[in-house]
Amino acid sequence: MALLGDRESRLLIDGKLVSGGGGTFPTVNPATEEVLGVAADADAADMDGAIGAARKAFDETDWSTNVELRVRSIRQLQQAMRDHLEELRELAIAEVGAPRMLTSMAQLEGPIEDLSFCADTAESYQWTTDLGIAAPMGIKTHRTIAREAVGVVGAITPWNFPNQINLAKLGPALAAGNTIVLKPAPDTPWSAAVLGQLILDHTDIPAGVVNIVTSSDHAVGALLSKDPRVDMVSFTGSTNTGRAVMADGAATLTKVFLELGGKSAFLVLDDADLAGACSMSAFTASMHAGQGCAITTRLVVPRARYDEAVEAAAGTMAGLKPGDPNDGGTICGPVISALQRDRIQGYLDSAIAEGGTFACGGGRPADRDTGFFVEPTVIAGLDNNAKVAREEIFGPVLTVIAHDGDDDAVRIANDSPFGLSGTVFSPDEERAAGVAARLRVGTVNVNGGVWYSADMPFGGYKQSGIGREMGLAGFEEYLETKVIATATN
Ligand code: NAD
Repeated sequence: MALLGDRESRLLIDGKLVSGGGGTFPTVNPATEEVLGVAADADAADMDGAIGAARKAFDETDWSTNVELRVRSIRQLQQAMRDHLEELRELAIAEVGAPRMLTSMAQLEGPIEDLSFCADTAESYQWTTDLGIAAPMGIKTHRTIAREAVGVVGAITPWNFPNQINLAKLGPALAAGNTIVLKPAPDTPWSAAVLGQLILDHTDIPAGVVNIVTSSDHAVGALLSKDPRVDMVSFTGSTNTGRAVMADGAATLTKVFLELGGKSAFLVLDDADLAGACSMSAFTASMHAGQGCAITTRLVVPRARYDEAVEAAAGTMAGLKPGDPNDGGTICGPVISALQRDRIQGYLDSAIAEGGTFACGGGRPADRDTGFFVEPTVIAGLDNNAKVAREEIFGPVLTVIAHDGDDDAVRIANDSPFGLSGTVFSPDEERAAGVAARLRVGTVNVNGGVWYSADMPFGGYKQSGIGREMGLAGFEEYLETKVIATATN
């Protein structure tokens, strides 16, 4: 069956594909501004039904205790996605504006294959630990620790890597035995809605275990954090929205797991290959038009070689023209919407207002009057106090900042409200490792090492989040711990 053949997606609630109480809303191709089709627009009543279905499935089916069913179901979903890979690829290119070459990595194929880690972990996990007999307070007791599902998970996701983020929540949450309501971003409803179709047609996942609620209204997602039937909210998005989720969840003390924004630093030490490192930094900052939370958007270089660094970064970025994401050679596609494009332009204007200059780029490309494109831009002449150095831009924009040695480089990197990721370049591995150890961030790339992998936990320090996604730590976020103490003779 062709996915989205009728160019209209539905909600998945309690095992049925249904229309939304709010009618429909369009999903738009950010490279062409064409309307691709429509998605069901859920209202508060739909969300209420989805939460009720997830609660009932958790409380009344054996999903949370039937590991074999869960493992089989996750593998079925994975296989269904593999079988529909090319349709999903075209969808990611059209709806997300994802450059085709990135769909073979974290934008699509990576997360599909990462589902194996979730199924394997559920299969091999030690769900109970026998601590044996002891006599605390003089009472002979047999102690067991059980790990079990948290319950109903509300998953709220952004638009930049929808497949990766939807699956990095669905996979471990389901493997751990939870039921879910997934509320994707309004900009990428189809990437989530197709999962509903695949789950219904190709898996044994019982009705109500997965519910997918697309909506144009952010307030519909906010209901998840306030509803006492939801045990945990797993959120990925901006830091400000994360704060709102946490505040909303406070009333019911709902467990919140937050993957938020970043303003990560790329540190080039004074013994590094400056041109090579700066070129890599510029390339990374341009990928998917800079719409990655962990992208290193502050390039921190030795002061004595500042101009050389700016030139190397700008030389690379100027060659990465924003292009059609369909084209296999495109690195920098469009940003997701006119709103994002205008937001980025606001940051570029602020850089000039604060005394910065553009070493390349600086606005919309002259040769593209349709599509939400922004030129890869290198900003020079500012320090770490500039607005563009402190706030997340979420566009292909790199700010080059001078440092006065390793201590100063570390100080600059850590002088940020965020703490998501970082990069260190130096041929002296011991020196680079020493600098990496001092960074207050969740992931560090040293000399081009790759931290993204199904078995590696990902997440942030400080205002970049609470908790870890992926890896064993990511799986265990979705578990509670129960101790059973049985008096014995
Ligand atoms: P966003 O915060 O605007 O929206 C994210 C999701 O939250 C969307 O589904 C939106 O509908 C929903 N939402 C909005 N208001 C809400 C509320 N009050 N309560 C509950 N849900 C609400 O983020 P975005 O613009 O879609 O995505 C970009 C942001 O996501 C960037 O800040 C980026 O750094 C971050 N991000 C972080 C990670 C990570 O793992 N740390 C990964 C990807 C993206």
